[in-house]
Amino acid sequence: MSAGLIDTHAHLDGSEFAADLDEVVRRAQQLHVSALISCGQDQATSVQTLALAGRFPGVVAPAVGVHPHFAKDAGDLLWLEPLLDDPRVVAAGEMGLDYHYDFSPRARQREVFECQLELATARGLPAIVHCREAYDDVIALLRSYRGRGATVVVHCFTANYDVGKTLIDECGAFLGIGGAVTFKKATDLQDAVQRLPLERLVLETDCPYMTPVPHRGKRNEPAYLPLTCAALAALRGAPAEAIAEATTANALRLFPRLAASASAMQAQ
Ligand SMILES: [Zn+2]
Repeated sequence: MSAGLIDTHAHLDGSEFAADLDEVVRRAQQLHVSALISCGQDQATSVQTLALAGRFPGVVAPAVGVHPHFAKDAGDLLWLEPLLDDPRVVAAGEMGLDYHYDFSPRARQREVFECQLELATARGLPAIVHCREAYDDVIALLRSYRGRGATVVVHCFTANYDVGKTLIDECGAFLGIGGAVTFKKATDLQDAVQRLPLERLVLETDCPYMTPVPHRGKRNEPAYLPLTCAALAALRGAPAEAIAEATTANALRLFPRLAASASAMQAQ
């Protein structure tokens, strides 16, 4: 494969990978997953994610931020600014709104999300956005930030075509496509990814969660990303190689700082 795949959303800092992360990264590379973006979710995991970038230089790229679940404990976010200023950081996030679990009050989620959009925009960093049962509010906020220089990806996109089209057309967003496209019951999502513009789609695992078929029920890992690529290719009636090349090119447009490390990987 000429272009390696890029896993645009992973969580490699957790206990799920503590025992075998070297093996996990090696397996991914053997299957041409050449770059992994590992996302922090609060202060501690953001710091750990930066440490992973040091442990796997040119392979694991860090994103730092506050997941909506942890918005209530994020304080004033002053701690986040020096982390965002680390030159290895390729994106701000993950950030967003989660009205399914409501682990943090919704007003606080919106406040912390908006604050992070400000910090990302001020630095020209792309924003990695989590959205669960909150598309109306996410679309409204992202629409207001459009044209201010920040690009966004709505990761783990699982909504229908109309929501995807609105995010792309009105918010200028990219959409992160993960293991859910392999789920039999995800018919709305499968319809959406057949028709949404390929130049706006990127691949992700969201590991250790969202494990694709046929590994459902097990821990997800970046080496399973080719399964999602193959499923997307089958749905669009395109060769997997073409989907790999397009989604990798999209990821490099979305995450400009990743381009240097990804090309360094391919040269090895
Ligand atoms: Zn995530």
